[in-house]
Amino acid sequence: MANKKTITTNSGSPVNHYQDSQSVGDRGPLLLQDYFLHEKLAQFNRERIPERIVHAKGSGAYGKFTVTHDISKYSRAKLFSEIGKETKLFVRFSTVGGEKGSADTERDPRGFAVKFYTEDGNWDLVGNNTPVFFIKDPKKFPDFIHTQKRDPKTHCKNPTMVWDYWSLNPESLHQVLILMSDRGTPVGYRYMNGYGSHTFSLVNKDNERFYVKFHYKTMQGHKTFTDAQAEEMKGKDPDYAQRDLVEAIEKGDFPRYALKIQIMDLEQAKTFKWNPFDLTKVWPHSEFPLIDVGEIELNEIPENYFQDVEQAAFAPANLVDGIGFSPDKMLQGRILAYPDAHRYRIGANYDSLPVNKCPYATNNYHRDGAMRFDGNGGSSPNYYPNSFDGLQEDENYKGQPYELESNVVGYFDRNDPAGNRNEDDHFTQPGILFDQVMNDQEKQHAISNIVGAMSGISGPKKDDIINRQLCHWFRASTTLGMGIAKGLGVDVDKIMKDLKH
Ligand code: NDP
Repeated sequence: MANKKTITTNSGSPVNHYQDSQSVGDRGPLLLQDYFLHEKLAQFNRERIPERIVHAKGSGAYGKFTVTHDISKYSRAKLFSEIGKETKLFVRFSTVGGEKGSADTERDPRGFAVKFYTEDGNWDLVGNNTPVFFIKDPKKFPDFIHTQKRDPKTHCKNPTMVWDYWSLNPESLHQVLILMSDRGTPVGYRYMNGYGSHTFSLVNKDNERFYVKFHYKTMQGHKTFTDAQAEEMKGKDPDYAQRDLVEAIEKGDFPRYALKIQIMDLEQAKTFKWNPFDLTKVWPHSEFPLIDVGEIELNEIPENYFQDVEQAAFAPANLVDGIGFSPDKMLQGRILAYPDAHRYRIGANYDSLPVNKCPYATNNYHRDGAMRFDGNGGSSPNYYPNSFDGLQEDENYKGQPYELESNVVGYFDRNDPAGNRNEDDHFTQPGILFDQVMNDQEKQHAISNIVGAMSGISGPKKDDIINRQLCHWFRASTTLGMGIAKGLGVDVDKIMKDLKH
């Protein structure tokens, strides 16, 4: 048997010629029987797994969540059960549109996905650094993402298709404004917030249900690059965010984020002026104040990037008792889409890989599948009910039925202005962000970033696209619209006339 210091084949046999292939004479052709040559090249050919279609470029770290405040009146989830309680977690940050080799400082939302390893199973909160999103129905996702990727002919990024799509989908306006502000280019992952973005629900021990939004507030303070700094960094250090995270954690400067929630009760949900399940809207803090829950600390970089970061698989489907779904259509779509993506990218048994595996017991009758390496249930029964293994369904987790607002099945216009939900109001919230939240410098930067990005629109539909998008900006804020129109050299009187129609 080979001692531990000997190089071996994958099957464990010691290798004597690691670098010289077996040949016929020193200048002769190679022999098929040099199996290790084949093994080495074959393994190399298979080093890559499909990259994620979105969120391909990412960074990850392990850490812990500590409860600092009691929220048991809202949720019975065990991870929140006691002040001081700690839960191990894994976080993966990412950009969205770029490929695995793309630059970390691209203007893009940032993924902020957290896997809490709780004793009731893994809870994945798969969010972004923005509280809202570009679309509000998952059926729109593939089209939207196509516009963020490469042009089918030139294979280059194409601002015309980006703005064509956004201008035809004004529900994107809120997210586009956030993206175009300096928060669209954060200085790495330590200096930005995270948001669960969707509306979820919480359930307490009395089975009372509340709607909830999750926020992670950076405890390092916000730091953003200007557009010019971000552009420069793309060339200087495309892996800036990865390097920054690794270096900070390795020197003991652990990034921390405060977990906070907003709560809306079921009655408030009925009367809220916007649809509380619309992913393009936030809940104003003045009406739904932030409630402290705990702190996240990231304190360990995985020993092996591929094993833990590349193979990490998060799914909004992974909830724990005390935390539930909501009718948010984007959330509903993601429940299905994420595990499906992992089965394609990693394989049927992705949940058994160390980073994804629940560290507590998992017992069921799923068996077999490619790359089964976890014992596969051994000799225990692979069917239920059975007379042997004593496994049972658990009455304590049966959940509570709840009523829906409607029992009518149909395809409903997501932007239908009928009713009291202001479904077609894509403008008020971005308007408040620009007019009331941003300071003068932030306003100036947002305008110049938008002007820079929209200047890339070209081709025969250029004027249509620009005018259509300008109308949306004007509807959100006249100052914003004027600033962009001026920057693009557009005749504002004409836009105003179009707006009246
Ligand atoms: P508040 O005035 O109470 O707070 C403003 C919020 O905006 C803070 O959460 C702040 O984050 C965040 N913020 C500041 N600049 C930006 C930016 N460029 N991009 C994204 N977020 C930013 O807000 P309201 O609750 O009354 O909402 C007003 C507007 O603020 C909303 O229309 C929305 O656009 C934006 N906003 C609201 C959030 C919410 O959940 N209510 C969350 C994020 C944004 P921080 O405190 O970390 O500085």
